[in-house]
Amino acid sequence: LFNNVPLAPVDPILGVSNAYKQCTAAKKVDISVGAYRDENGKPYVLKCVFEAEKRLLGAPKEYLPIDGIPEFNKVSAKLLYGDAMNGKEKNMVTVQTLSGTGAVRIGIIFVRKYLPAGTTVYISNPSWANHHNICKESGVPSAQYTYYDPKTRGLNFEGMIADMKAAPNGSVFVLHLCAHNPTGVDPTKEQWNVIADVMKSKNHIPFVDCAYQGYASGDLDNDAYSARLFLSRGFEMFSAQSYSKNFGLYGERAGALTIVSHNEKNIPLILSQVKMDIRAMYSSPPTHGARIVATVLQDPELTKLWIDELKGMSNRIKYVRQKLLDALVARNVPGTWNHIVDQIGMFTYTGLNPKQVEVLVQKYNIYLLASGRVSLAGLNDHNIDYVADAIKDAVTS
Ligand code: PMP
Repeated sequence: LFNNVPLAPVDPILGVSNAYKQCTAAKKVDISVGAYRDENGKPYVLKCVFEAEKRLLGAPKEYLPIDGIPEFNKVSAKLLYGDAMNGKEKNMVTVQTLSGTGAVRIGIIFVRKYLPAGTTVYISNPSWANHHNICKESGVPSAQYTYYDPKTRGLNFEGMIADMKAAPNGSVFVLHLCAHNPTGVDPTKEQWNVIADVMKSKNHIPFVDCAYQGYASGDLDNDAYSARLFLSRGFEMFSAQSYSKNFGLYGERAGALTIVSHNEKNIPLILSQVKMDIRAMYSSPPTHGARIVATVLQDPELTKLWIDELKGMSNRIKYVRQKLLDALVARNVPGTWNHIVDQIGMFTYTGLNPKQVEVLVQKYNIYLLASGRVSLAGLNDHNIDYVADAIKDAVTS
């Protein structure tokens, strides 16, 4: 019966992380997976989360409503859209989802069911690989738009705009709110304004993927610029929020999908359909992570503690960016490395090629993606020199 099941390809990110776990070498470094580590390389539970968990001890384990905890949905929309909401609440619906991935998935299914047949979802080149998987598995046509320029290791803004202009009117564009994964390259505010102009003239629909709010600049409002711009410019749009990175809630699967419609009469109808999809897929979302987020964001003291901790995490990443750059420059590693500090968020797209990456993995047990993406959270004072030595060897040998 099952003789025809082919082996699925290994996930490019999780596969590398598993290889690291299986590696028995005494000296090994994991800079593959996008999960925060403290200065000793250890996973970190935020103090505000710990405090919220103390308050939640013994909370009922009853099923949540299909669309999740109402207070969680409210604070999530507010966190992302802030003052840009400005009376638009009635034109928006937010549902709790299985983290950012679940939000993207439910949103893309909605695109397939309720946007005109054949609507294409445009994904940046490169992007988080799961965007493509989700479109494929949801039966939604997807295409790539120009984003990263390997020559400048920055944004190919002209190419991006040209692709937006060339796409059929009314296409969906998946845009990373900030701290673009995997490149760490974001448009400037001026460039976002131009993007919004072009998207408006083409009736394109923003699908803003928000996995790193607070990580890019350490400032939640600043990081939310693009989503707020689209909302205040009157777009009908989608946003997918994840609390994995900014709250450190990875495995708790806390996230939210928001859909914005011009016509408030559509909101209950949209909600009814989204709920039907959720019901058929997993019935209702998990309780714990969303309760933690709602507890923190409804309490000014805990919110302040969270913002301080978020700044702490974002500053540590900035610190290791600078340290890695300094270490490479001190070793006279051929090439330019300034992009390491110019890029933002959790990752740097180093520009190392697959052969060089292979040297790091095979010879030094330093695990990173074949694309050369490094998760900076895995670096610290104990391993940066080792990694810099290995990069020098990989680049010069
Ligand atoms: N979108 C992007 C761009 C991401 O980087 C991630 C996490 N790696 C997600 C969505 C989803 O994250 P999660 O489902 O773990 O919250």
